[in-house]
Amino acid sequence: MTQSESPPRFADIAEPKPTAEGLAAAYAKVSADLDRGDVRSAVAAWEHLRRAYGTWSSLVHLRFAQNTADPAAKADRDYADILAPEATDLENAVKRRLLAEPDQPGLAPLVGAHALRLWESDITTFDPAIKPDLEEEARLSARYTELLASAKLSIEGKTVNLAGLGPFAEHPDRGIRHEAARVGWTFFETHAAELDEIYDKLVALRDGMARKLGYPNFIPLGYRLLRRVDYGPDDVARYRQEVLHHVVPLVGRLLEARRAANGWDRLRFWDENLIDPAGNPKPIGDHDVLVAAAQAMFAGMDSRLADFYRSMIDGGFTDLKNRPDKAGGGFCTSFPSVGMPFIFANFNGTHHDIGVFTHEMGHAFQNWESRHQPNIDYLWPTMEAAEINSMGLEFLTYPGIGKLVGEDAADRFRRMHLIGALAFLPYGVCVDHFQHEVYANPGASPAERHVIWQRLERKYMPWSDYGDIAFLNKGGRWQAKPHIYGSPFYYIDYTLAQCCAMQFWVKSRQDYRAALDAYIALCARGGSAPFQDLVRAAGLVSPFTEGALADVVREAEAFLGG
Ligand code: ZN
Repeated sequence: MTQSESPPRFADIAEPKPTAEGLAAAYAKVSADLDRGDVRSAVAAWEHLRRAYGTWSSLVHLRFAQNTADPAAKADRDYADILAPEATDLENAVKRRLLAEPDQPGLAPLVGAHALRLWESDITTFDPAIKPDLEEEARLSARYTELLASAKLSIEGKTVNLAGLGPFAEHPDRGIRHEAARVGWTFFETHAAELDEIYDKLVALRDGMARKLGYPNFIPLGYRLLRRVDYGPDDVARYRQEVLHHVVPLVGRLLEARRAANGWDRLRFWDENLIDPAGNPKPIGDHDVLVAAAQAMFAGMDSRLADFYRSMIDGGFTDLKNRPDKAGGGFCTSFPSVGMPFIFANFNGTHHDIGVFTHEMGHAFQNWESRHQPNIDYLWPTMEAAEINSMGLEFLTYPGIGKLVGEDAADRFRRMHLIGALAFLPYGVCVDHFQHEVYANPGASPAERHVIWQRLERKYMPWSDYGDIAFLNKGGRWQAKPHIYGSPFYYIDYTLAQCCAMQFWVKSRQDYRAALDAYIALCARGGSAPFQDLVRAAGLVSPFTEGALADVVREAEAFLGG
């Protein structure tokens, strides 16, 4: 491990390019240690190996995202995608051996009891027989990313990519919002055949891998790949029902109130993005202004947050500006041999830019706070817990958010954010329900999948009115959601985390300092326990507990009504 307390610089991070032969030789040494019964040395060498590999792999994927049109970055990513199944194979062999160690009680203090549970899950998700399928899955996912990053869209005399369409999609002028929807979805319509083909192949591949591993379909494998060791599809199905009963009617009422307030005859799809009738509050300035304002906001919250943020900015661990050929979206990635994470985003001048400092910073801060966790498996929690760290910070920045949006707009921003958080839930569970149906019926045709989506959309988002946007009227909305292509079953995690993050918000209104301290303590625990254990230890109620969602939604509705 090359961790130190003096903050590193991004430009200095480098790990040699691994080869299949080099990895095999390094793992043979780990194996030799185990043969000799020297478990402590084996575990230490293996940890070092995984961290170095993890740092290299993160760098390669980050550089591809920074410029998807760079042939060298693309070649490196292709190489990494081919090497990944080899590395997984070698890793799983060590996990199998450690799990078979006769001295299990002696092993737990060395590697962590929860790690053993994670590995039990991991070893059932891989077999060398699926290596070619994993490579093909990575290739198809990269193709989807490239396709979306290639969009060159004309609007209001400008050429923009999909991220650049954002300001037009929530423009106060209804005609411009409509045009943004038309232009954006026409891009998807133009590529409809390829989008269907990529997903069709991904579903068939994933179903095939599941069957090769002995599962009836991809659903149980998908859950295990996400390392969900403490809940299953039945719990998730019950949670979706809770959203249907407690959130869908409320969002319907909020949208109807917006329609009436604006004097529209009907609320169209392109009106859903304009949450504030006066225009969604915007950031107070561009990149440089926001970067400085965020420093002041964090300084007003906690010195640990402020110091960490400063070292990220000073060390060059951010890439926030939108530019051609950059992959869409925002994410936080990490370099486990270094300890410092990296934030990637595409600023577009809307309130989404603020989310980088309130959401992605939550991920980054958690990863930093967890850097002393004993093993790489604990540096990130499972995703539903990781999204509490990010979405929780969105709510905990409420008191200081005026620094990013202007003090006069702070109340309106908080209201917009809370409505957005509620309105997200029905869409989030719809995306999840759709994927369960897709993988339960892997033989469905692309046309049948569109019908499935339309049926679920009517259930969870009965207000959806797509007007003259043909692609959306044909059930195509899900095809713009990268998680459905690249990260199956991940999406529900945002909705589970939202239920927990909103509990932090409720607590912060009673005792801000106590809520912030509980949040920071949760961050430091990283992934050292399963989701529901982390939630309860932070003083929150598991979203799977009867009434948890209903309670928090009631608080939110009271806040919005009052
Ligand atoms: Zn996130």
